[in-house]
Amino acid sequence: MEFIFASGNAHKAEELGLLFKGSSFNIISAPESISVAETANNLYGNAEIKAQAYFQKYKRPTVADDSGLFVDALPDELGVMTARFGGETLTPLQRCELLVKRLEHEINRNAYFMCVLCFIVSPCEIFFFEGRLNGFIGKQIIGDQGFGYDPVFYPNDLKDGPLGARSLAQDVEYKMANSHRARAAGRARSFLTSFIARP
Ligand code: IMP
Repeated sequence: MEFIFASGNAHKAEELGLLFKGSSFNIISAPESISVAETANNLYGNAEIKAQAYFQKYKRPTVADDSGLFVDALPDELGVMTARFGGETLTPLQRCELLVKRLEHEINRNAYFMCVLCFIVSPCEIFFFEGRLNGFIGKQIIGDQGFGYDPVFYPNDLKDGPLGARSLAQDVEYKMANSHRARAAGRARSFLTSFIARP
């Protein structure tokens, strides 16, 4: 079964493609990306807005991903607005730098990534899957894998390894197995596998 990926974000597309590899589901790029206003106040709403826009246009099953970084010390600034943190014009690296700066004197550096996937199979078959990854915002921006805020996000699981704490951008294998997106995709894979096998 094929799903059109409702996004122009090549990084997310690549990760989702890998996460569904070997399953009965193919995530394919849209013929053209659509500009969609993300007006909801939570990730579920925005994931559905994106999935619906592509579903209406292409009349084929679609999947959308809405993700965010939730930082305990900055509860009103990231989350659903993560892509706009610091303004529309910043580069991903500048956003990471700003985040480190904003937490300069902060003791509580806890944060989590959250991903919501919205699958639309037909107008009355709409399914949501959520995944989270707990960690903290580091003081160093490090690593050249992944994308977005990966270089400042340090998963709790990677804190006490033999190499010491590592950012998500330093361990792509860990990311592909454990990230917020990997967890949401794992849930989606198992649900959709049973869904298409139903009598
Ligand atoms: P959106 O889901 O496209 O609205 O993106 C939300 C923001 O979160 C963007 O700034 C992304 O770069 C960032 N983001 C989403 N997923 C990840 C991830 O897996 N790692 C790092 N940053 C991410």
